[in-house]
Amino acid sequence: MMYNIFVYNIHSITYKYYTALGGIVLFHNDDNRIINIIYNDNKMSIITANKLKEKLEAIGFKIAPTYDYNAELNICIGGDGAFLRAVHNYSFPNIPFVGINTGHLGFFQELSPENLDRFIEAYLNRNYTIEEIYLVEAIICTRTSCIELIGINEIVIKGIESKVIHLDVSIADNYLERFSGDGLIISTPTGSTAYNYSAGGSIIFPTLKVLQMTPLSPITSKVYRSLTTSAIVHHDMIIKVNPEYRDENSILIVVDGIQHTYDNIIEVNLKLSDMTINKLALDPNYFWWNLKDKFI
Ligand code: NAP
Repeated sequence: MMYNIFVYNIHSITYKYYTALGGIVLFHNDDNRIINIIYNDNKMSIITANKLKEKLEAIGFKIAPTYDYNAELNICIGGDGAFLRAVHNYSFPNIPFVGINTGHLGFFQELSPENLDRFIEAYLNRNYTIEEIYLVEAIICTRTSCIELIGINEIVIKGIESKVIHLDVSIADNYLERFSGDGLIISTPTGSTAYNYSAGGSIIFPTLKVLQMTPLSPITSKVYRSLTTSAIVHHDMIIKVNPEYRDENSILIVVDGIQHTYDNIIEVNLKLSDMTINKLALDPNYFWWNLKDKFI
């Protein structure tokens, strides 16, 4: 049986953490080490957050009462949806994330509520790497202004009210096609297992620096001809999308499941963002066994 014993003395500045494997980690509480625990309102998430808070405070970490931008770690408890919301709500912070899955799928969330002690031990021993999560950026220009949106999984351009839309697509200034169909998903490597995968796109290893453009129900007939499979695009290249004139007001921009509407969209430029977020990677084989576990 795996277990840990926390030994600490409130008058001392050194905490001893006895690990499950019998080792000892000495931890100084004068470093003012702060951790954010972010959780959704699912019962299991609340229980897990309370347990984790107790364990981390016992070894001298401060758990921020409200989100603290000086914290060293964000622990997000919930499913993938909770992780996506946390990153958007806290404006893509630099502080690394680690996830504990209490959701339905939890593809992002490497930990489970049963292995909190193992996680604490690995964290104290620095047995992890920091993985960059690439983001997708869209500059949306209307007839009057331009606005920037950032996505973790994907940015989707689709028609309002299930209308077919017609989009002129260029990649790195090379005209590619007039797309006709439900829309286009521009996915990050991280988002490749989300909407992109359901639409027939490929799964991309998360550290590959590419974007994927995946069509949603493309029409291929004598009238319209669109690429029917996804294309993988180099990170330096811009995907330029110009809606056909009559579609300027029929376009919806959906960022990680959140809808945005604008009047008179004339151009959308999409690329891999210069900004990234960080994620703690505890097991180097996690991606492949997670893929098998969650999808096969
Ligand atoms: P949601 O209910 O929050 O998410 C839908 C499902 O997608 C959930 O099971 C979620 O996992 C899972 N998911 C999210 N990101 C993932 C990722 N990177 N890899 C694998 N699975 C992932 O739905 P929402 O609020 O509308 O949008 C959030 C995301 O859902 C979007 O970014 C989009 O990728 C995806 N989505 C998928 C479809 C589809 O497959 N047809 C349609 C719309 C949106 P949890 O259960 O752990 O939260």
